[in-house]
Amino acid sequence: MGGEIKAEHPLIVFRYCPRCGHDGFVEKNAKAKSCPQCGFVYYANPSAATACFITDAGGRLLAVRRAHEPAKGTLNLPGGFMDMGETAEAGIIREVREETGMAVEEVTYLFSLPNLYLYGGMIVHTADLFFSARVADFASAVADDDAAELVPLAREEVHPEDFGLESVSRAVGLWLARTQE
Ligand SMILES: [Zn+2]
Repeated sequence: MGGEIKAEHPLIVFRYCPRCGHDGFVEKNAKAKSCPQCGFVYYANPSAATACFITDAGGRLLAVRRAHEPAKGTLNLPGGFMDMGETAEAGIIREVREETGMAVEEVTYLFSLPNLYLYGGMIVHTADLFFSARVADFASAVADDDAAELVPLAREEVHPEDFGLESVSRAVGLWLARTQE
């Protein structure tokens, strides 16, 4: 799903200058647009998002089924976009709580991957930050927010192709390789 999105200028939907309203906000380079009337230059930067590999004492991974597009119905990891002024650690702990009801106290940063995310007809470039966390069990977990259901997976049931967002699918493959015994 994520892999089918074709990259175009990240500000293609920004037709008017957001500062003065001039009709003709033009491409300055691959990352930016500028206004020939007022001189305003706007650079597109990736939006930071987080996701977490949560495992229980038995080594099961907690996946969630996506309730909304994009990639509705496919598996995902708990996570989401960071809020402004928030650390990545606080962001993933908040997202885990919102989607699963679980209070994860400690997360460990693993790696990051770039991604494209279609939102409101606009292709949003993201920097996805992946974390891991351990809990004793998933007994307190309840699906909420963006999660249609929680799907605990034994390690042999974890398949990257079941995860619909491209960066998450790649991340699951990396996680499997890195956590091999
Ligand atoms: Zn302008």
